[in-house]
Amino acid sequence: MLPQFNDTEIAFKHQSNHSLKQAHFLFSAMGNPLVTKLGIAATQWAFKLQLPIQSLIKSTIFKQFCGGETMQEAATTAHMLHQYGVGVILDYGVEGKDSETSFDAAVPEFMKAIEYAATQPNIPFISAKITGFARFALLEKINNKEVLNEEENAEWQRIILRLHQLCQHAKANNIMLLIDAEESWIQQPVDDITDLMMATYNTEKVVVFNTFQLYRHDRLAFLKTSHQKALVGNYLLGAKLVRGAYMEKERARALSLGYPSPIQESKEASDLDYNAAVNYCLDHINSIVVFIGTHNENSCLLAAEKMQQLNIASNHPHIYFSQLYGMSDNISFNLANGHYNISKYLPYGPVKDVIPYLMRRAQENTSVAGQTGRELSLIKTELKRRKLS
Ligand SMILES: Cc1cc2nc3c(=O)[nH]c(=O)nc-3n(C[C@H](O)[C@H](O)[C@H](O)COP(=O)(O)OP(=O)(O)OC[C@H]3O[C@@H](n4cnc5c(N)ncnc54)[C@H](O)[C@@H]3O)c2cc1C
Repeated sequence: MLPQFNDTEIAFKHQSNHSLKQAHFLFSAMGNPLVTKLGIAATQWAFKLQLPIQSLIKSTIFKQFCGGETMQEAATTAHMLHQYGVGVILDYGVEGKDSETSFDAAVPEFMKAIEYAATQPNIPFISAKITGFARFALLEKINNKEVLNEEENAEWQRIILRLHQLCQHAKANNIMLLIDAEESWIQQPVDDITDLMMATYNTEKVVVFNTFQLYRHDRLAFLKTSHQKALVGNYLLGAKLVRGAYMEKERARALSLGYPSPIQESKEASDLDYNAAVNYCLDHINSIVVFIGTHNENSCLLAAEKMQQLNIASNHPHIYFSQLYGMSDNISFNLANGHYNISKYLPYGPVKDVIPYLMRRAQENTSVAGQTGRELSLIKTELKRRKLS
């Protein structure tokens, strides 16, 4: 049977009336572009001035989108999700630290997360950003094919070593590692390093996934090339499919620097490529492990329909669905109810360090037409249903 995404009783059974009302308030506020814009500016300003706003952030937007400040706090959320058949992707959400000390410190932090995940029944993945281990400016230089000096070459080798350490540890602990996609102007080295890790560690089963942003018009072709490369190299492709989170930034940079935007011309074009990428992966499911990361109900439904057509079981070990924690519970919990492999991206980390992630969530819930409206109407339906029953 195909999943239904409008069953709000299943979607929100993990939420109390109080937390549903809080979510209602938050999504209503984020739905107003002016409130979001002012909120983002005020938050950045308050952190710069070291004003004591952490507890306000923690009890509102942080609570909605993050698992906790520490792995222990995130563990409580992970246990709750497990009760409903929903898995977790641990995401150490600290961003924007740009020093060798913090890159070195990130390795044991991620290793701890891998070890913890290995002890849990519902944490098959952790996710990582290469910029958590590498200097942004160096990645940009490599992306631009600039020649590196001796020191920079040594720095690049240290980055590769950090990734090897992580992947080895993930493989030894039977945990899968999702490498996020980032801005297009650093993505080439991110792809290169991820390909290298896939070729090394994905020989028997998938340990490492690269991320394909289908809002870029060149990524469907890149997915196919990556698959061919994996076939020739005799390893499995781990393909995490997303639409992409940096659209405004990408377009603005392309415009200001005068190069053609890498982003598709319309939402429909992104949707077409996204769904084509899902189909491509499902058609080659013996040699690809696909991770369908989306809040788009239609894409999830199309994937489920295609699985049915191809006679693929809903819990096939090469197919995973995922949504971000705090969003689209109607998809996640209804998929779990239909026994699909489903996990929530669960970021954790100190409040001040996950601010860039939270700002992206706030912006996304304002700029994505329909998304906030959809969340709100589902929450309203459920609140009404509970009142009547
Ligand atoms: C589990 C998970 C992991 C993620 N990991 C990453 C990651 O590693 N890197 C990353 O960049 N993002 C990541 N994202 C975010 C993702 O890329 C999207 O920003 C977000 O999920 C919204 O897209 P959607 O498919 O869920 O929903 P939809 O609402 O169907 O699509 C919205 C998206 O469509 C695209 N879009 C909107 N308008 C237009 C337009 N006019 N023209 C062209 N395209 C348009 C944009 O990408 C926008 O975000 C992740 C999301 C999830 C759920």
